[in-house]
This record gives sequence, structure tokens and C-alpha cells, in this order.
Amino acid sequence: MLSVDAEPGDLVDVRSERGRPLGRAFFSSTSQITLRMLGEGPRDVRAFFAERLEAALAYRTRVAAGAQACRLVNGEADRIPSLIVDRYGDVLVIQTLSQGTDRHLDLFIELLQARVKPAGILVRNDPKVRVLEGLEQVVEVRAGTVPDLVDVMEGDIAYRVDVRHGQKTGLFLDQRENHLVAGTYASGRGLDAFSYHGGFALQMARHCDSVLALDGSEPAIAALADNAARNGLANVEARVANVFDELRELEISKARFDTIVLDPPAFAKTKASLSKALGGYKEINLRALKLLRPGGILITCTCSYHVSEPLFLEVLERSAADALAPVVLVEKRLQARDHPVLLGVPETSYLKCLVLRRL
Ligand code: SAH
Repeated sequence: MLSVDAEPGDLVDVRSERGRPLGRAFFSSTSQITLRMLGEGPRDVRAFFAERLEAALAYRTRVAAGAQACRLVNGEADRIPSLIVDRYGDVLVIQTLSQGTDRHLDLFIELLQARVKPAGILVRNDPKVRVLEGLEQVVEVRAGTVPDLVDVMEGDIAYRVDVRHGQKTGLFLDQRENHLVAGTYASGRGLDAFSYHGGFALQMARHCDSVLALDGSEPAIAALADNAARNGLANVEARVANVFDELRELEISKARFDTIVLDPPAFAKTKASLSKALGGYKEINLRALKLLRPGGILITCTCSYHVSEPLFLEVLERSAADALAPVVLVEKRLQARDHPVLLGVPETSYLKCLVLRRL
């Protein structure tokens, strides 16, 4: 950048060295990402964002029709980079993750109130990335009222969501469609490893004889057990455990499953950690395939942007070979369609969810 004439978080006009207009952008004074491009739109800032929000909301009425919990605005992919808006019933949860969106937070709240008329808006600005932008971490209700726990349905399952303290904004909404699809594959004895509040486990439980759900977090397992009980699903066992250890234990005890889900946290958060991460993915997939009965289904996920689909497939191929468990690939899935991928910004494509069948 040759010169800049802007305050932190300004919406600026970007020009090439020769003065050719390149479009508008958010300017950040501290981040490595100095400019977040927004493209063209009305000159008036309010009209500009009103138009963007309208397009994002219109799209959700098609791909998330009837979903009580879904993402309404997904940053770059809705051309409002670093703005997240999630809906939980009649509550909205907003994150402004750069100086640009943070500067315009009041405007977003005003526009969303007028357009969506939610009962309450929670600003959930505690992600660490805000520190890179020189912004403080805050969680506060900015409009109406937001209950401690919000009740939403995902498919036929009721969840009670803690939007103030839960991971992400309360649920893993990017897996919403994959949760529902897992239900259609589920049968026999199910295993949901890295279960959080049971997004996969509870959908599976409606079709399985029994489901074992594993997570290292005690509050997550308590919430899962509570959700299972309120849905009348008595066939779910929720266990606090380290998945790496527990898969080994299950193997020793010769346990067998018909449907297994692996949805670990991102093992590769940076490029430098990639090779260690691949070792982690190999280990859990190898062990899961050993626990899977012939004819069984493995739904295996990675949300590491650095683990590309070809790399992940390579890991799975080696896991299957070492487990002496030949598999076929049945389905390739991404994050839910309300979290679309912006071509040209590869970081917006991070979740891979592959469905394998053991032969
Ligand atoms: N499957 C969930 C999301 C899982 S997020 C859903 O669809 O809703 C990853 C989860 O893995 C978190 O809940 C975290 O607590 C858990 N976790 C991370 N490392 C773990 C480990 N080694 N053993 C067990 N759980 C772990």
C-alpha cells in the first residue's frame, strides 16, 4: 500500500497505483489484513449495508427455510467480511470481528432490528481474533432481551442453547445439514466422537438401537444428556472422555459399531501444525474403522482449512489400508449452505464431511 488516508474501521475507496478504482473496503490499522474488499454498492453507507443484509437474508429464506437455528450472515461469503449473524429462534447473535464491522455495529443492529424484528440481540464479541484488530472482548445484550437458554429445534430434535457461553455462538451451525444427513445413515449401534451437545448423536439416536457420545468437556456432556432427556431419547449414553484414549479402550474391549461419526476440533490451526495434525486424523480414523462392522458407515469430518479434501482423502485411504478395512466413498459434503464458500477466498472453505462405507 502506497498511501492511506483513513481512520481505523473506515469504509474506504481503494485505488491502484495509477489511480484506477478497485472497489470499496474496510480499513484496519492493526491487522495483517489491512483491507477487506467489499466490491461496489450504493455510495450511502446505510444503503450499502442494507442492500448486503437484504441479499443475505433473502438467500437464507431459500437454503435455511424453516431452520430455527441458522447463520444469516457469513462474513466474506455475504460480502460483509468479518460480520457474523446467527439466528437462534427469535434471538440474533452478532459478531463483529474486525475494526470495519465493529465501527458499524450500531448500524447493523439498527438494520437487523428493522428488518428481522428479533426479541433480542446479543453481541458475542469474545473471539480471540478481535485482539489482532486491537478490539476488546465483550459479550452484551444490545437490544431487547436474551434468555440465559434459548430453545430451538434442529430437524425434529429440541436443543437448549447457551448463546452467551456455548462454543462458537452456541451450536455448531455449520454442521446443521450434516447432522440431519447423519440421521438418514444411522442404524444399529452408533458412536458420536467429539459430540459437543449431541448435534450428531441425537439425530442418530432416533434411528439407532443405542448411541454412545464422547466429549472431553464436562459441560458439553451435561448439556447433551439434558438434551437427550428432554427429547425422550433414553438410548443415548453420554460419557466425558478423551476420544483418543476411549477409542483405544473400545478396541481392547472388542466393541463394534454400525454407524460412527468423527467430528474433532481443527487439529491443524496453522500450516506449521499440519503434519502433526495429519497424524491425529490418521489415528482416530484408523481406530474408528477398526471399530466399524463390515457394511457400517463412517461419517468423518475435518474443519481444518489447511487439510484440503485431497489431503484428507489420502489420510483416509491410509487409515483404511492399515485397519485392513476396505471402504467406499459414499458422499462428499461441506459446511451447510447457509455458510457458503466465496470463490477466490479459499479460507471460507474449511469443513469437509465425508461419508464412507466399510465393505
Ligand atoms: N460434533 C459437534 C461439534 C464438535 S466440536 C456438533 O456437531 O455439534 C469439537 C468437540 O470436541 C468440542 O466439544 C470439544 O470439547 C471436543 N474435544 C476436543 N478435543 C477432544 C478430545 N481429545 N477428546 C474428546 N473431546 C474433545
